[in-house]
Amino acid sequence: MLKINPEFVDGLEKFGAVDINACYNCGNCTAICPLSDGDNSFPRKMLRYSVLGLENKIEDSLDPWLCYYCGECSETCPREANPGELMMSLRRWLISKYDWTGLSGLFYSSVPALIIGFVLVAILMIGICFTKHFNTETIMDFGHHFEKYLILAVASLILIPNIIRMFWFTILKEKIKAPLVSYIKGIWELILHMFTQKNSLKCENNTFRWLEHLLIVFGYLLLLFTTVFLNWFSTENTFIIWFGYIVGGLVFIFTFDFILGRIKKNKEINKFSHPSDWLFVIWLFLLGFTGFIVRIFIDTDLISNNLWLYMIHLIVIAQWGILIVPFGKWPHFLYRSFAMYFKKLEEDSK
Ligand code: SF4
Ligand code: SF4
Repeated sequence: MLKINPEFVDGLEKFGAVDINACYNCGNCTAICPLSDGDNSFPRKMLRYSVLGLENKIEDSLDPWLCYYCGECSETCPREANPGELMMSLRRWLISKYDWTGLSGLFYSSVPALIIGFVLVAILMIGICFTKHFNTETIMDFGHHFEKYLILAVASLILIPNIIRMFWFTILKEKIKAPLVSYIKGIWELILHMFTQKNSLKCENNTFRWLEHLLIVFGYLLLLFTTVFLNWFSTENTFIIWFGYIVGGLVFIFTFDFILGRIKKNKEINKFSHPSDWLFVIWLFLLGFTGFIVRIFIDTDLISNNLWLYMIHLIVIAQWGILIVPFGKWPHFLYRSFAMYFKKLEEDSK
């Protein structure tokens, strides 16, 4: 049954939408969008659904995930209705629908809730350090295992269930029946999109931004691998130590550039920054930066007298892993890749 929510636009503003009621349905945005075509006609359709409050239609749609936020539609919109930012806010709203805990919706729409969450996680980590008598070696050993269990917990409790819920809303509930071979054939494309986000290259003048994102994704994954599996903070292996320095440096240099872009607001995509955008880039920067400094302190034998530094790094990791990875901007690349996979199933079922 079609459900109309007249309050939908007001609610969406908390997720970052701006001025969408200004839209007069001219269709310029869809015409200019390099990723929109006959089968996937957006962003105008999404604007219409939003203005009319057709919540179910949006919940069942994969279209918001096909947008890479190049900003071309917002630049050319004659009414300044910001269709690019609307697509971004719909992605946040969709995550709040997939998330069974309800925390994504809470953190996306309430800054005080976010601040409370960050403070509670910091207190929790300080409390754990207290139970370990502020012993550097024990705490560093805990930190190493903590990362592993956190990855497992976030993947199994939040990310995988959210993807299953997306599958339910868009494929099962819609009674889409694609042949089994489409499920199998699409897996390679799914992996390829996940790691390269290659569709964003269809956007005009986007090669440098795409390359920056690609280097950050690989830098981040390698940093995770180096700290979690190669035990970067405890190893004596020179190759691993230098490898960690390089990827840690890569992450904080590129994220610093992203932060500058959001401060300067000189591009369409940086004009509006939701709190979740800020948190994502700042915490990713802090992750690389604090990790880099901790390793320098280890190499110069200063860490045992400066445990506070490792504790800051541990708190940053915990806030990142408990709040930003499951409930913030981080999983967008994951959901987008699955959305493209499900979209292909939709097409193959016709
Ligand atoms: S968002 Fe702007 S460009 Fe798109 S249909 Fe509305 S008024 Fe036209
Ligand atoms: S931001 Fe770019 S990709 Fe997204 S809808 Fe607008 S033109 Fe299309």
